[in-house]
Amino acid sequence: MLTKLRDIVHNVASSSDVKQALNTLVGETCTAMETECCSVYIADHERHVYELMATKGLNSRARRVSLSFEEGLVGLVGRRAEPINLANAATHADFKHFPDIGEDHFNSFLGTPIIYRRQVLGVLVVQQRAPRQFDESEESFLITLAAQLAVVFAHSKAQGVWPSDGSGSILLQGAAASPGVAIAEAWCDVSQPRLDLVLPASCLDIQQERDRFDGAVSAAIIEFGRLRKRFDSELNQDTLAIFDLFIHLLNDPVLRKAMKERIHSGDMAEWAVKQTIDEFAERFNNMSDPYLRERANDVKELGQRLLYFLENQETKQWQFEKPIVLFARELTAGMLASIPRDQLAGVVAEEGAVNAHAAILARALGIPAVMGVEFRPELVHRKKVVLDGFKGRLLVEPAPQVLKEYKRLRDEEIELQKEVDNAFTKQTKTADGVRVQIHLNAGLSADTSIAINRGVDGVGLYRTEVPFLMQRSFPSEDDQVNQYRSILDCYPGQPVVMRTLDIGGDKPLPYLKIEEDNPFLGWRGIRFTLDHPDIFLIQVRAMLRASIGRENLAILLPMISGLSELLEAKTLIERAFAEVTELAEAEGEVLHRPRLGIMVEVPSVLYQFDAVAPHIDFLSVGTNDLTQYLLAVDRNNARVADVYDTFHPSVIAVLVQILAQAQRLKLPVSVCGEFAGDPIGATLLVGMGYRQLSMNTRSVAKIKYVLRHIPSDALQNHVNAMLGLSLASDIRSASEDFLEQYNLGGLIRVGK
Ligand code: PEP
Ligand code: MG
Repeated sequence: MLTKLRDIVHNVASSSDVKQALNTLVGETCTAMETECCSVYIADHERHVYELMATKGLNSRARRVSLSFEEGLVGLVGRRAEPINLANAATHADFKHFPDIGEDHFNSFLGTPIIYRRQVLGVLVVQQRAPRQFDESEESFLITLAAQLAVVFAHSKAQGVWPSDGSGSILLQGAAASPGVAIAEAWCDVSQPRLDLVLPASCLDIQQERDRFDGAVSAAIIEFGRLRKRFDSELNQDTLAIFDLFIHLLNDPVLRKAMKERIHSGDMAEWAVKQTIDEFAERFNNMSDPYLRERANDVKELGQRLLYFLENQETKQWQFEKPIVLFARELTAGMLASIPRDQLAGVVAEEGAVNAHAAILARALGIPAVMGVEFRPELVHRKKVVLDGFKGRLLVEPAPQVLKEYKRLRDEEIELQKEVDNAFTKQTKTADGVRVQIHLNAGLSADTSIAINRGVDGVGLYRTEVPFLMQRSFPSEDDQVNQYRSILDCYPGQPVVMRTLDIGGDKPLPYLKIEEDNPFLGWRGIRFTLDHPDIFLIQVRAMLRASIGRENLAILLPMISGLSELLEAKTLIERAFAEVTELAEAEGEVLHRPRLGIMVEVPSVLYQFDAVAPHIDFLSVGTNDLTQYLLAVDRNNARVADVYDTFHPSVIAVLVQILAQAQRLKLPVSVCGEFAGDPIGATLLVGMGYRQLSMNTRSVAKIKYVLRHIPSDALQNHVNAMLGLSLASDIRSASEDFLEQYNLGGLIRVGK
């Protein structure tokens, strides 16, 4: 039986098109189960119907057979999400009779759902004339087959090789990376070299290979410099700074040396580049923070450009008669620049996620983008597509009514965006004038160049781990001083909250491996740095030295679970403070005492507020970890992603409690987790009474716009109503309706 199963799944998976795959499926299942009829129904979730897509035994040519999700035995299998096995189907209350499909001869019915990640993709049915129930072994065969098919189906669905609404259009799903709607012809550029396809190869002439490599590095440096200039007037400083970072990395002796050493030992330049880039990218890939994790893509982009210049002298420039939607395997800044802006309606990339460099660039340039889409060039190239950058969707050859709806949405969005942009530089106040401070979460060294006065009130969370993760050893105190000083100087007169090193666990340093069974509950954040006072002292001293003569530094301690960790950390900070004060005085300068705060992210600290309050100046709520620890759910595990829900009533209740405690203890409190940068999250927080939110650059304009449109009493009433709800899904949908009342629904389409 096992061999039969394997053969069916293999033959279905290797069929050249869906129709053939489904015909193979029904035919081979009939043979394997020695039954007279097998049919497969595919769910169309847009229209809420099951379509009979292939059958052996029924007369499918009679007419198109489709049943609503509520109809027939097939609908029942889908609704119950479990098999139904009947000896006499026609007598069942849910049986639906289709006159011309020739079902009348069949009595017994066994239907099983094809489920992938909780979603019913279709229903597989076998039928027989003899009025008998299928036995247990037949039932388990069909269930196993359906489970294996689900994976095959899900994969072809992701690739767009899937029958959807019967109109012949293809739906592709990816991640919403840059909002907006684009309607244009698709253009696939799959000519770019791919790092993942580089194979081990050695060279014969090492000197020649080194020259080739040096040539590629120089060409890449020139290109990044040129791109920086090209985008200078269109992009803000933090986005532009990524080019500086690339140039810096290409000049970085560590990276270059690693590649050169490999060439020297006989590797071909491409192979040397691939190995080194993979090694660097892997460090980022292992991090828990999604933003940092996606820096791996930046490193890969750098590698991709080196590969490109190993093969080409210069970048190709494209010209199109009409705007296009560009499809690429890996999207790079160079590709974005190679097409005139007015000819580029949108971009789609197979690799990369929403915070990849190309996605950041697309957002900054206002180009709708979808990332992480599997596509087959032959199915999309030169076809008309609708790119929905809000939902991360692509429709290839859409039906006329769908196209019309998207055209309307596109025009609406253009209007809305104009208004959002206008709100950006203004101070944030609710519609009735209640001031809310909006701070930035920063991390990549590139972010140090974020332009001053772009409408934020300072930096609410500077994640200092990046320079530690980028290098082969701990950055020196002087390196850190320079790094920290540059960010303090970007925000004169505004607070810059620097968090001490939050590595360990799943953010291991490449030069200090930590292997643990439970990294999130292990040696991370303050637990690690207190065990390494040397590292902690150097870092705090560097922060303090950077702040000599400045008054805007605040220090934030991550993962504090109780008073003892805080006191220990404080003792070390006092020691560093005394040392740096002496240093400052010797130079005739002043060292101001930085404000000290703790992250509220480990639930135990909630019960120690009274004890910690006298020792700190502020609190910063990290909703990312707080949610993870409160709900006991790994924030990075896709399997439990639906359990990780910041709208869980317990998370909402805790946030209310934290604010009440902070107000009682007169401690300023800010929220710096992702929740603060989410339109629904931000409205809930301000409704609760939070007045400081810290978020990624990309959320700033949107959140400011939302808050400016709602009066504070409405926000408060909304939160009170939410506190009466016991389901996260109810809180989310009621909050969506609330935003919709203020015509802000368009802003929450992003990422849905
Ligand atoms: C958090 O946990 O909410 C937070 C802001 O910190 P990080 O995401 O860096 O762990
Ligand atoms: Mg955290």
